[in-house]
Amino acid sequence: MLPTPMCLKIPQLPFCSVKVAFLCGIIKPIETILQLIYYLEQHKTSTKQMKKLLFAILTILSINLTAQELPSGFWMGRTTGKFPFFNYGLGEDRLGGAKMGFIDTNVVIRVVDSVKDDYKVHLSQSHYAYISKAFVKRADSVQPKAYYLTESFRVYGDSVYDYVKINLAEKLPYKCFQDIHPSRLILDIYGATSNTNWITQLSTAKEVKNVYYEQTEDDVFRVIVELKHEQHWGHHLYYDSVGRKLVLRIKQQPPSLDIRKLRIAIDAGHGGDNSGADGITSHVLEKDYTLKMAKQLEKTLKAAGVKNVFMTRTDDASLTMTDRNTMLLNYAPDLLVSIHLNSSGNASVKGTSTYYRYIGFRPLSKAILKQMLTLGLDEYGNVGSFNFSLSGPTQYPNALVEVAFLSNKEDEKKILDPKFHKQVSQKIMKGIQDWLLSAKQ
Ligand SMILES: [Zn+2]
Repeated sequence: MLPTPMCLKIPQLPFCSVKVAFLCGIIKPIETILQLIYYLEQHKTSTKQMKKLLFAILTILSINLTAQELPSGFWMGRTTGKFPFFNYGLGEDRLGGAKMGFIDTNVVIRVVDSVKDDYKVHLSQSHYAYISKAFVKRADSVQPKAYYLTESFRVYGDSVYDYVKINLAEKLPYKCFQDIHPSRLILDIYGATSNTNWITQLSTAKEVKNVYYEQTEDDVFRVIVELKHEQHWGHHLYYDSVGRKLVLRIKQQPPSLDIRKLRIAIDAGHGGDNSGADGITSHVLEKDYTLKMAKQLEKTLKAAGVKNVFMTRTDDASLTMTDRNTMLLNYAPDLLVSIHLNSSGNASVKGTSTYYRYIGFRPLSKAILKQMLTLGLDEYGNVGSFNFSLSGPTQYPNALVEVAFLSNKEDEKKILDPKFHKQVSQKIMKGIQDWLLSAKQ
């Protein structure tokens, strides 16, 4: 809550005409106390009056402390490092905890606790997040404030992206998520209170239909961006290098949805010292077969006339997830397909599956799965909210395909067959084409 303007009248005191004003924290408690001490000296107050005054001081102090709105025992920091991100909680699984989202560097955070390798961050009065200590540096020079004001917005576009630029008084933490039916981006800025009375919208913006905001909580400022197309083509949030403008960059739907005109990225899972799963009877390595299938997909796409195909690896290179994401973000594809082979401790588990992280990117993975199922593979499913590193970037639609299970004899037989690689590549391409057709509507 914000400090409420109020006028506090101290009861039954001889100077009852003196009102102690607390207007939005302008008059600090120390000044108030000094006023009272001054009054005591001037009026040679009796013990009874002293008691009343002490009671008044305590009342004033307690009211003002509540109005501070800041937790005690915190320190200020800023985000740092490569691809810092917030987690919702301390939960963990094979792929890490549930991510709230990526955050730019140099964003101001209020650290309230330390739990193992994470810091607990106070985002707003009722929102907290966790962040790896590796992504935090101390920033003792930052003056903590209960809230910061938002300023004007500007919405415009160039030939590829639309931009929503929000002027803020500080680089504040945020969270953004995709919404569908209607397609929207919802951005929450923490510690921000509206002072926005001006949203300029230029006709160069092609993907943004409407921008408006709502103060959902006293210190949570929500920006709603309605999109023209049902399909999400990707977005990115960052602070402008100059000043304190938060930029929401939105990829426009490509002018042509002909697959030949798109920039398609392919990631062959694993590689080098990371060999992935191995075949139950053949003991072949996942990294070798994902590469074979990725190369076949590249061939199939190029044969169909796709000019721009990007491969994260074309040999047995060892690449970290950060290496892959860095390459992909530099290439800025229109879409990404990652290829992996599944494995289970239960040898009877088999089938094909596709994965997505964000709801706006689900249609691509669904369309690919639908085509993959025509290969006579069992359905293992379409898996959402999947915490796979390459599904993390929000900049482009992406799908992970776990072609089949290396740990199942029937699936393994298929995986070993070069004809099957060709079929898989054709089905993935057909899935992308089906998705493009649905995106046109
Ligand atoms: Zn894998």
